[in-house]
Amino acid sequence: MSSILVVGVFGTDGKLSTTAQTIFTSKFQDNKFLKNNSWVGTDRSVELSLLNVDDVFETSFTLRNTIEKIVFVGVAQKEKKPTENSSVFELSSQYSQQAVADRHEFVTLNQSIRNQVTTLVESIKKDKKDEKFVIYFDDFNGHSQAVAEGAALATWKFDLDFDKFLAPIFGRDGLLLNSFKALPSATENDQKQFKTGIITGSSQLFSRYILELPANYCTPIKYCDLLKLKIEKYSLFVSQEFLSAKSKINVYDEEWAKSKGMGSFLSVTAGTSAPARVLEVVYTNNSQKKADEYDLAILGKGITFDSGGISLKPGEGMKEMKGDCGGSSAAFGAAVAALELELPLNIITVAMLCENMPGPDATKPGDVVIAMNGKTIEVDNTDAEGRLILADGLCYLSEKQPEVLLDMATLTGAVIIALSHVTAAVYTNSHELFAGLEKASYQTNDYLWRMPIFRDEYLGQMKSDVSDYNNIGGRPGGSCTAATFLSEFVDFSKVKKWAHLDIAAVTHTKAGYTGRPTRAIVEYMQQLSK
Ligand SMILES: [Zn+2]
Repeated sequence: MSSILVVGVFGTDGKLSTTAQTIFTSKFQDNKFLKNNSWVGTDRSVELSLLNVDDVFETSFTLRNTIEKIVFVGVAQKEKKPTENSSVFELSSQYSQQAVADRHEFVTLNQSIRNQVTTLVESIKKDKKDEKFVIYFDDFNGHSQAVAEGAALATWKFDLDFDKFLAPIFGRDGLLLNSFKALPSATENDQKQFKTGIITGSSQLFSRYILELPANYCTPIKYCDLLKLKIEKYSLFVSQEFLSAKSKINVYDEEWAKSKGMGSFLSVTAGTSAPARVLEVVYTNNSQKKADEYDLAILGKGITFDSGGISLKPGEGMKEMKGDCGGSSAAFGAAVAALELELPLNIITVAMLCENMPGPDATKPGDVVIAMNGKTIEVDNTDAEGRLILADGLCYLSEKQPEVLLDMATLTGAVIIALSHVTAAVYTNSHELFAGLEKASYQTNDYLWRMPIFRDEYLGQMKSDVSDYNNIGGRPGGSCTAATFLSEFVDFSKVKKWAHLDIAAVTHTKAGYTGRPTRAIVEYMQQLSK
């Protein structure tokens, strides 16, 4: 089995990372190889096959006799690491030019490392084909998490068969577990960051996988099977004991939803023969709280295929609507990561899973449905179905009285018009919650940007003659009206902090499905756990 060493090189003069400086002999560091390469920018990597071990490695370097190849990776010019209180994380309302510049630099460096490592690992994989190999990674001056994320993201290989997709990545003999390693000489903190990066990177991959699956391979029932398989058989790093003690998967059927009064949710699934499900993952690992007291509840939109229903979408591009479950896939990706990281939190994650189809029993434009909180909704357009399923989900999770309630959905096309594919939109009643999400978003390069809720004004666009609300509010501010509608189904006497993330623009970009903003949510969870 071959071993490869990946080392970070910074700046124009080929400066090795601090850790790498202790590995290589000064004779090697002084030679013209490093000095003669221009390392500025973010697209340079150079391979070096070993000549004489004694010329290259210090005798104290543990792996000196097993490394067969070294790859030097040039990353952005400057190394910058913001502290907790640095201006990098000032709120968006308090921008200074310096804060923007600092933030840009930090973001650029992490992103640069992640992209470089992804490209590198992809090419090694291609080169090695089925041959086994181990890659040891330098810490890139304290950026081990970004390094590991880049490596994890490179393991992507789609397969229609759940097991065949999951096993090579997450299985005991998988690529991820056995092939990527931090240097044995890395600090304890860097080892920990590396492990975190493997988890967060692979959680994004899992989210993306759900989106890529064709709708006939990812019906609500099959979706539940996939999540069970991932958690029960392919959770990274955690023991079976931990899993069975701390996590529980509940799958609820339509009868259960009916008994809860989820008329809004059930109206969406009426036009399909594929049974709907409500999928719930309960994770309890906060010893300071009772099992039913939640630090965080996350709700995800899980439309496994959206034809638009009777308000049918145009045929062109409709196949992309297999990915209308991006809110739920990001939610579960993050939930799985919380478990794998053993975060000391209690988290309940729920997805409303169904198809939106125009079958004989489908909801018709003008029909009125009743949500779990008794509010009536006129379904003016059956293609605005995401808010209908989330309305009941928000009522359901409000009853759990979580400290923070997040919902995520590929909700509107309007958000793409507003923000392009750069950032997801956040709507929230809490400055504090937004500050946390914003910080998490910058740390992960997975952007979240705050948008407004003006209740009376936006609801004014959603008036109905026959019910409390119309489910659409016209073209102006389409993402804002949808968010305001959702806020009507959060019980603010039970939930103090709520945020809705409209993620349609980032889940699916020109490059394809992304699995965003999974890493940002995991980062937010890590903040919560501190
Ligand atoms: Zn729709």
